[in-house]
Amino acid sequence: MQFNFVANNSVPSASGQTIDVVDPSDGQPYDEIQRSNGSDIDHAVGAARLCFDSVWSKLGAAERGRLLMRLSEKVTAHAQELSDIEQRDCGKPTKQARADATALARYFEFYAGACDKLHGETIPYLDGYSVLTWREPHGVTGHIVPWNYPMQIFGRSVGGALAAGNVCVVKPAEDACLSLIRVAQLAAEVGFPAGAINIVTGYGHEVGDALARHSGIDHISFTGSPTVGSLIQQVAAARHCPVTLELGGKSPQIVFADADLDAAVPAIINAIVQNAGQTCSAGSRVLIEHAIYEPLLRRLGEAIQKLRVGPATMDLDVGPLIRQSQKQRVQQFLRDAEAANIRTVAQGQIVDQAPASGFYQAPTLLRDVPVTHRVAQEEVFGPVLCAMAFRDEDHAVELANATQFGLVAGVWTANGGRQFRMARRLRSGQVFINNYGAGGGVELPFGGVKSSGHGREKGFEALYGFTTLKTVAIKHG
Ligand code: NAD
Repeated sequence: MQFNFVANNSVPSASGQTIDVVDPSDGQPYDEIQRSNGSDIDHAVGAARLCFDSVWSKLGAAERGRLLMRLSEKVTAHAQELSDIEQRDCGKPTKQARADATALARYFEFYAGACDKLHGETIPYLDGYSVLTWREPHGVTGHIVPWNYPMQIFGRSVGGALAAGNVCVVKPAEDACLSLIRVAQLAAEVGFPAGAINIVTGYGHEVGDALARHSGIDHISFTGSPTVGSLIQQVAAARHCPVTLELGGKSPQIVFADADLDAAVPAIINAIVQNAGQTCSAGSRVLIEHAIYEPLLRRLGEAIQKLRVGPATMDLDVGPLIRQSQKQRVQQFLRDAEAANIRTVAQGQIVDQAPASGFYQAPTLLRDVPVTHRVAQEEVFGPVLCAMAFRDEDHAVELANATQFGLVAGVWTANGGRQFRMARRLRSGQVFINNYGAGGGVELPFGGVKSSGHGREKGFEALYGFTTLKTVAIKHG
């Protein structure tokens, strides 16, 4: 049985109810989390406020940095334990779970170093005045986290918020809470004061909604679906609470005929099968210049056919999806595609050892997908890659920008001028040239345009979002 973690204590929810934790690899429940409600949020926000007022806001920036560095080291020391927890909770193949634990430690390390480097400015003004700006924390920040990368998203969001001087109340996704509860316990062990990091689990429409509505929350960082993102923004708008929204994507990988295909093919495949396609930045559309459309489709098809899907502990190319309803959702997209006569080029293989009760989906490559079809427009959040051909740069840009999303774009070309032209014309928060994701470095600001959200997380840029700027003008004559 797992408990909420509030003010450095494990506490049951006020409701006395729990939610089953299910292993996606076999579909079986193996633990329980608390089904919290508004009173649990009240309790956590109260603990966070007390911490902020009495301890955290009085701590020097360098001291905050030392605590974050100790947490980074602690996470590294517990990386195996954390990745084992994440693997079972989310169905992540071993290497992917381990990479998430490593990234979590790296976020805390990066933000540890940033704490005492967040400066204001002095502004030249009228004679007799001195004007300066201070970057102040919001205070109590709320963090609503999805299930696809709990540790990574916690690291970037909570790491940045703490570094900027805030305290945190975190609502993990009901499908993936366990690693975050453990990280909060580790933070207490390294000396984080009671109330600095609080974890309250439960359903989004219950406890997530209560968090977003709570008048004691000074900033909300939401990562999740566009639909819920809109709800959060509306709720927050009612009390003028600032919000950072990291939402979904339908990201294009654009391949010109002069591209280095030996480099592009494995990157294109990885971008759609990593975490079984349940990645906001998944490269779910491959746009291919006419001249190489058929040969590249052949190569991609051969690569997809070799992919093996199975239980997380087998550490294959692809693990299970998070839950049964996610699998049904992906399969509905594939049925809709088939009904529209969209052809399948290739599918990967689900291994015999995969239990029938697990949530497995073979990676699938679709060809000649009409840009307006829902499989080319909506976020599938599964390992489904849509291929379409383009004529020239203008056509590639038109297709790439033709969805409601704008999170990530990849461009493969040897032409230097085209690299810059494409980077400028793509409506997207990130553009990667001759790579996809650049290894996901924590230093790189990340976020979207259009329905992919607004505000930036990761990197130093995130710290500006986690602070508010105060201008101080002194008239001294
Ligand atoms: P989701 O929106 O259903 O849930 C996200 C979180 O919001 C969960 O913790 C959930 O419990 C909570 N929630 C749900 N309803 C709520 C409500 N009414 N009020 C408050 N909170 C509520 O998304 P998901 O299915 O967990 O995650 C997948 C989505 O997240 C995808 O769209 C994906 O693209 C997106 N995502 C975006 C990024 C990014 O950085 N841009 C990263 C990861 C995932």
